[in-house]
Amino acid sequence: MKDFDKLIETCLSELDKTGIKYGNVTKWEINTRAKKRWGQCRILPNGKSFEISISKRLLDDALPDESAKSTIIHELLHTCKGCRNHGSEWKKLASVVNSELGYNIKRCTSPAEQGIFGEKAVKQVKYAVMCLKCGKIYERERKSKLIKNPHRYRCGICGGKLGAMFPTDDKKS
Ligand SMILES: [Zn+2]
Ligand SMILES: [Zn+2]
Repeated sequence: MKDFDKLIETCLSELDKTGIKYGNVTKWEINTRAKKRWGQCRILPNGKSFEISISKRLLDDALPDESAKSTIIHELLHTCKGCRNHGSEWKKLASVVNSELGYNIKRCTSPAEQGIFGEKAVKQVKYAVMCLKCGKIYERERKSKLIKNPHRYRCGICGGKLGAMFPTDDKKS
């Protein structure tokens, strides 16, 4: 498993380079249960500090560091002023990060962002695979060929390799 603390540290110092002022995160958590989201940012009852959790799946050594790092930064951007949803402020900062640090952070259209900060709940999805390069999530209702063998397909956006997000019957070949 990847060193979560080290990834956080790297992300914070990268963000510092851009001059973006993020909020005070008092708790970082590895979420071992969430299957439908990569990360989550919650504001604490004091209204000032935040709690961020990242899916344990992203800390798998088989994934590039960028998968976890872009999620960490995505969530950190939610701690910025006016950025609790994916509105114009959040998008502006995401594009700064993307152009200055070479990330590909965008608003997820997936259950990854479910329910937090007033985002619309997404319909229940049984299966999904994720692009290991850009983070695009492909959801399927049925156990399609894509779900069964994600390694045989490439991301439609960036051409990156795909990896299973939910348990699949993916046979290593
Ligand atoms: Zn988000
Ligand atoms: Zn991609």
